[in-house]
Amino acid sequence: MSDIHGLHHMTAICGDAQQNIDFYAGTLGLRLIKVTVNFDDPTAYHFYYGDAVGTPGTILTFFPYPTSQQGRPGIGQAVVTSLSVPMSSLDFWRNRLSGISTPSEYDHSIDFSDPDGLLLRIVGDPHYKNPNPWSKSPVPREFQIGGIYSVTLQEQEVERTAGLLMRVLGFDHDGDAEVPEYVFNAPGNQLHRRIDVSNIGFGSGRPGRGTVHHVAFRTPDDESQERVKTALVEVGASVSEVRDRDYFRSIYFREPGGVLLEIATQGPGFATDEDPNELGTALKLPKIHEAHREKIEAELPKLRLPA
Ligand code: ZN
Repeated sequence: MSDIHGLHHMTAICGDAQQNIDFYAGTLGLRLIKVTVNFDDPTAYHFYYGDAVGTPGTILTFFPYPTSQQGRPGIGQAVVTSLSVPMSSLDFWRNRLSGISTPSEYDHSIDFSDPDGLLLRIVGDPHYKNPNPWSKSPVPREFQIGGIYSVTLQEQEVERTAGLLMRVLGFDHDGDAEVPEYVFNAPGNQLHRRIDVSNIGFGSGRPGRGTVHHVAFRTPDDESQERVKTALVEVGASVSEVRDRDYFRSIYFREPGGVLLEIATQGPGFATDEDPNELGTALKLPKIHEAHREKIEAELPKLRLPA
């Protein structure tokens, strides 16, 4: 078994904080599992959404920066985040997303954007599973998003990125996939393990609102993370120190095409600082910022959290 088991989360920049909550917890019906701040900049929120418990691979996270420039998806970024739904739910989603979806090339998927222009895709997934549905979601259980289906990395050239995915991170190339992208899967049969790599369809990108900040892969524990770090350093990657994100521990590096990637540990998970029944219902601060709670809370915009 490789030390990378698939995706952990995707993190993007958004504008208005409330609009982001209303879209992801409302329209898409995900559970808001954590309301915290950007650990590196506590003047901004950090929202996590996922299944009922925040299983790695189901997690989308956002930094709201209302004054940031509008970004443009393109080369050197993750450009499309695809979400897994049951095949039988596509009519439900076409209906729910009518007005914001754009024509898709494929019958089994729906392309749409979030309110900041972040490109998303609903995919009718023959291998759909959702072991932890969210009982209070506005989306009925049988139609709910089951996590990330894949993330598409946009590259100038595919070769070097493919080499890193296969030779260092242990992904397998799926040569049978009938899509214009190159498809890679973390080995094994676990969920949320697909990465698409493409060199067509997008020009130069610009970071900002409505674009992906980074993509995180999951690794079981600190030891496996250390092995991945060693392997990355051996091929010349510049890898960050381990950062404690309270809910997981992370290292960061850029793949050869420039996309910022993270390797995050599976645990300890989102119930470390609040009751599993109360995830996402109050602002949680990392220990380093707790002493300044009053000041931080006063400066952050007020939110209407999902009921
Ligand atoms: Zn991250």
